[in-house]
Amino acid sequence: MNFDFSEHHTLLRKSVREFARAEVAPHAQAWDREERFPKELVPKLADLGLLGIRIPEEYGGAGMDVTSYAICVEEIARIDGSLALTVASHNGLGTGHILAFGSEDLKRKYLPKAATGEWLAAWALTEPGSGSDSAGLATTARRDGNDWILNGTKMFITQGSVGGFCVVLARTNPDVSKQKGISAFVVDQGTKGFSASKHLLKLGCRSSDTAELTFEDVRISDTQRVGEVDRGFTDTMQILDRGRISIAAMALGLGYGALDMAITYAKDRKQFGKPIGDFQAIQWMLADCKTELDAASLLTYRAAWLADQGQRYTREASIAKLFASEAGTRACNRALQVHGGYGYTREFNVERHLRDVKICEIGEGTSEVQRMVIAKSLLA
Ligand SMILES: Cc1cc2nc3c(=O)[nH]c(=O)nc-3n(C[C@H](O)[C@H](O)[C@H](O)COP(=O)(O)OP(=O)(O)OC[C@H]3O[C@@H](n4cnc5c(N)ncnc54)[C@H](O)[C@@H]3O)c2cc1C
Repeated sequence: MNFDFSEHHTLLRKSVREFARAEVAPHAQAWDREERFPKELVPKLADLGLLGIRIPEEYGGAGMDVTSYAICVEEIARIDGSLALTVASHNGLGTGHILAFGSEDLKRKYLPKAATGEWLAAWALTEPGSGSDSAGLATTARRDGNDWILNGTKMFITQGSVGGFCVVLARTNPDVSKQKGISAFVVDQGTKGFSASKHLLKLGCRSSDTAELTFEDVRISDTQRVGEVDRGFTDTMQILDRGRISIAAMALGLGYGALDMAITYAKDRKQFGKPIGDFQAIQWMLADCKTELDAASLLTYRAAWLADQGQRYTREASIAKLFASEAGTRACNRALQVHGGYGYTREFNVERHLRDVKICEIGEGTSEVQRMVIAKSLLA
């Protein structure tokens, strides 16, 4: 079941699915094993418009809507969670922040190169000491004439070492409440004092690049500021709302991909003289996966539809991410169970999906944070 709205969405889904099957599926297992970001795929992603999904055509992008963005991420995730995470974060976070709040000069400087993949985007909010409590960040930006001087450390940054630029959230005013004194800046890779110090080894999404970043007296011009001074945290919450739709879509894709594998295996594998798909225990696992993923799909595309209508969708994005990420994890876990011992080996892709999907319950706000957002909106 796909909750698509137009012929354009159906065609898009078909073309991204074909691309993922042809260009990603043959290599995803090897990239994961080598824990290597597949740089060679970047031009092909760009050719298909997958690096400028939301960027308007005047800046060289594909100018598509939020529903399309979710479809692209879901279809890639059916095959490879790592690449889905790359596409989701590049489009939604780093590029998305400049698109939504950057000056015209910043848009002209960064968006065309982001769309062609010449520069991949990173986005740095999380720090060693601040994750869920993201407004508690300690990175500072101090004004010095027309420049800013950045100091601090960022943690778990996707595209942190392969990105061409990074949108960084930093404290610009320590004298106001912690949500109010934060601003965003774009820092180019190679800027003096900016380095990606550690490539982090992970449970899943191993071929997505995750790095720790350090900023030591990094001097940047005020023209690199994204949005108004001290308003960066409010902007960031909007960026995360949209990002959460893409993480829900990623969980959906991984779940549906794992379900497809389980169905194929249930028809092939014989025990007690018959295909294991004849056993009710297996059938119920498949049925539960399908039911929960379809419900997650409706929630995800409801949130995307609201965003495309220009309506408020903060709560709906959190509901979608919470339900889809947990349903996706359950689906991958059941799909591995259907594969028995073979599922536990690296012979089959299902173990990679289970490892990859777990990040959907953590990144861009944990499940606990989503519950806080949903409850807060109910009690407001
Ligand atoms: C692979 C990967 C990629 C990432 N990419 C990026 C990126 O590109 N940019 C970026 O900025 N960040 C990124 N992150 C960071 C991610 O967003 C954070 O890991 C996440 O927000 C959780 O923060 P934390 O890890 O510090 O956990 P913590 O906040 O320390 O949470 C630990 C546990 O405590 C719970 N908890 C915390 N506070 C509460 C509370 N008030 N009530 C109940 N429970 C609570 C959490 O839910 C969690 O279970 C990435 C992380 C990973 C692993």
